[in-house]
Amino acid sequence: MEKTQLYDMVIIGGGPAGATAAIYAARAGLASVILEQMNIGGEIVVTDRLDNYPGFPEGIAGAEFGLLLQQQLESLDVPVELAQVESLSLKGEVKEIISSAEAYKGKTILIATGTEPNLLGVEGEIELRGRGVSYCATCDAAFFRGKTIGVVGGGDAALEETIFLSRFVEKVYLIHRRDEFRGCSWLQEKVLKLPNAEVLWNTTVSKIEGEGKVTALQIRQDGRDRRLEASGIFIYTGRMPKTGFLEGAELEQDERGFIVTNAKMETSVEGVYAAGDIRKKYLRQVVTAASDGAVAATAAAQYIYA
Ligand code: NAP
Repeated sequence: MEKTQLYDMVIIGGGPAGATAAIYAARAGLASVILEQMNIGGEIVVTDRLDNYPGFPEGIAGAEFGLLLQQQLESLDVPVELAQVESLSLKGEVKEIISSAEAYKGKTILIATGTEPNLLGVEGEIELRGRGVSYCATCDAAFFRGKTIGVVGGGDAALEETIFLSRFVEKVYLIHRRDEFRGCSWLQEKVLKLPNAEVLWNTTVSKIEGEGKVTALQIRQDGRDRRLEASGIFIYTGRMPKTGFLEGAELEQDERGFIVTNAKMETSVEGVYAAGDIRKKYLRQVVTAASDGAVAATAAAQYIYA
């Protein structure tokens, strides 16, 4: 089925980038629609707290921030449709977006689909996913109350989620492949002060063990093999862009698949914009995603009204 309406802007993804673009588009008088496969707020909804967004001195729960974004979209009458985008046709002035249920038409498109977790790629990871292997502490922490777990990674996500998980578990091993963290210094300081967290430096996970649920991790530390009894493992080894639906769209992407834009969030195809974590950029944060969305909608309005 095809939506007969020609939108000024079809926004793919309702995270902070897409939602902010919709707010700016509404205020610029553009008719836009957000296509989202989960909730407004995107990844932030499953993040424990947002502590570095201006205007919230005490921080704000990720879920609450998502709800506020949704209310703001409602107050501006921005339509949000549950849709999984499968492909795009970007040639010509009218762009087509094919989703599982509908096809949409837009004078411009904003791609703001964000990222998804990288797999660790070890034995047991796929088989035990949801049975002790998790990529979302906010979703699963409560299942590990009083238990011993591992967290893998050394970036902001691994540090932040170690802090969150430490409130539930008896013991958390933070397993990092190098001897220094990549994540920011204030998170490092907090992690190193946690009484129930132990950092295993220069350590990799070689296998996740368990029959039906995780029971142990095989690790290699400083060249020596060890076995850790653990009921769970949370994997934060970086993220990759969600770009499956871009196959054949001929948009410029970098070697890892992130979309290349200029300062106006314009991609290599006229009328197509990208914003947020999906974009090749220096800093992936909620505040920079929101900023990208504002820029993209403003540039799209200029393009449409020109
Ligand atoms: P990231 O910064 O890319 O960190 C990934 C970590 O995983 C790195 O420490 C990396 O080790 C390790 N790693 C990668 N592949 C591995 C493998 N195969 N085996 C073992 N370890 C592996 O990813 P992220 O932490 O998900 O953050 C992504 C982006 O979101 C960043 O820009 C981050 O700043 C942002 N973010 C911000 C916040 C916040 O500000 N509160 C929270 C979450 C995320 P090496 O260090 O050795 O490469």
